[in-house]
Amino acid sequence: MSILQVLHFPDPRLRKKAPDVRTFDAALRQLAADMLETMYAERGIGLAATQLGQPLRVIVLDVAEGGNAPQVFVNPVITATGGEFKPGQEGCLSVPGYFDIVERHESIRFRWQDLDGVVHEQDADGLLAICVQHEIDHLDGRLFIDYLSPLKRQRLRKKAEKQEKLSIPAL
Ligand code: ZN
Repeated sequence: MSILQVLHFPDPRLRKKAPDVRTFDAALRQLAADMLETMYAERGIGLAATQLGQPLRVIVLDVAEGGNAPQVFVNPVITATGGEFKPGQEGCLSVPGYFDIVERHESIRFRWQDLDGVVHEQDADGLLAICVQHEIDHLDGRLFIDYLSPLKRQRLRKKAEKQEKLSIPAL
């Protein structure tokens, strides 16, 4: 397994819509394993393949307290939503150090495939529902900061670009 580099906003690769996974093979297993290792190394609770520059509909999550319940969802699709829109605080490994309030569906039903291609459907609420919505957004090229006002997003972009410049090693 290896830890991969997480892309940071405003990297244009984060804006690409990923196609469905069609081949359930060893390479897919390897990608899922690398995604989980990267997510744990970065202390995240969710990660989408697109955040690693891998254009495939794969997300990994671990919403268990203490974090030892890894989950892999391939080709996840929300099939129903319930409850109300509920505000909650979110952050993102691709927008480091920034947190803000986003409204999400309180509960969802979603369909996904496992690493063998077997189709599953389940209901989710709470943190799992929030994370699945956040990660599916990534697969569609959307970031949680897209829900913020244009002014807030503009400020974030400026800050992010400044940080990129500062991170160039001095030679
Ligand atoms: Zn994210």
